[in-house]
Amino acid sequence: MSAEPPGDLPDVPMAQPVLGTEEEELVLEVLRSGYLSLGPTGPRFERDFAAFVGTPYASAVSSGTAGLHLAVRAAGVKDGDEVITSPFSFVASANVIAYERATPVFADIDPVTLNVDPAAVAAAITDRTTALLPVHIFGYPADVPALETHGLPIVEDACEALGARHADGVAVGARGHAAVFGFYANKQLTTGEGGMVTLGDEATKARIDSERNQGRAPDMGWLDHDRLGFNYRLTDLQAAVGIAQVQRLPQMLADRAAVAGRYREALAPLASELDLQLPCEDHDGDVRGWFVFVVQVPRGHDRDDVIRALRARGVQSKPYLPAIHLMSYYRETYGLREGMFPVCEDVAARSIALPFFPAMRQDQVERVADALREALRGS
Ligand SMILES: *Cc1c(COP(=O)(O)O)cnc(C)c1O
Repeated sequence: MSAEPPGDLPDVPMAQPVLGTEEEELVLEVLRSGYLSLGPTGPRFERDFAAFVGTPYASAVSSGTAGLHLAVRAAGVKDGDEVITSPFSFVASANVIAYERATPVFADIDPVTLNVDPAAVAAAITDRTTALLPVHIFGYPADVPALETHGLPIVEDACEALGARHADGVAVGARGHAAVFGFYANKQLTTGEGGMVTLGDEATKARIDSERNQGRAPDMGWLDHDRLGFNYRLTDLQAAVGIAQVQRLPQMLADRAAVAGRYREALAPLASELDLQLPCEDHDGDVRGWFVFVVQVPRGHDRDDVIRALRARGVQSKPYLPAIHLMSYYRETYGLREGMFPVCEDVAARSIALPFFPAMRQDQVERVADALREALRGS
């Protein structure tokens, strides 16, 4: 397709972290202290983060994936078990089930919230089901209260949902189940790489703290290990960045929500005239923690053509997210195929993540909206 060259305008990037002198000063302090890992900064970050979410315990880990892995182990998942999860997620939420040689069992999603449909989960439960792993996709709260009625252990993938709140007023991550947050550079809070598991009980925190540190027991000598563990530790340098990020979190979350509001306004004509589908509005009391702004192109348009047309206009975007059950590893390992989760497949084929970050300006939002209008007209 032909398009005007973007000219001198810089590209609108997908994401951009908010970092300042507070992060720099805290990192310098840690550097000068000499305690680069297993020092006092990690526990301080855990306390600050737990206080923000409103949960008694939190364990810092090296990534969201590492946190999900340890949380799945702590839920007692083992070889041959089934764990029910969403096919519309970042691949890590299913991979961690496979790490423990359990089978990820997918249940289709709700077309509005894009989270796993509680009725589909109920239908997928068998006597081999030992845990449920809902994902709060794009920051919209999954219906965890409905999943709680089954009495199975729940591990929440909250990696995209910092700042989200359930209808009953409880923050995502504070229901008492293990909930996992991710701190990669595009997340609401970043430490470069990193993650946090929020927890309602001390025993689970003790287990996760041990397994992230080679299985070392807190009261044992350095070389005595009474269980299998990993090196999933977050460094004190990363924790220092995290502490400063927790302080700016209310502002960063408010800025993300404001950018989402500007997008809604700028894209409203495309929604009504061209049937572009916008992220669902908060409803029934649930509150989204804004992470990405994902639109679904109208049926009949080629999503990848739209992405190329945006690119030609200096706007980055991504197909987000591809369905996990259609990835070759999952097809081949678990015998999955097209047609099994039709809602997820339809949404995944039409979804595009647009540039989205707290400092995004009104003119950048408008540029994306203009580019998207041209792209849809021409695709
Ligand atoms: C970011 C993310 C993760 C974790 O990613 P890491 O890169 O391991 O921190 C897990 N699940 C979802 C849905 C995510 O978006």
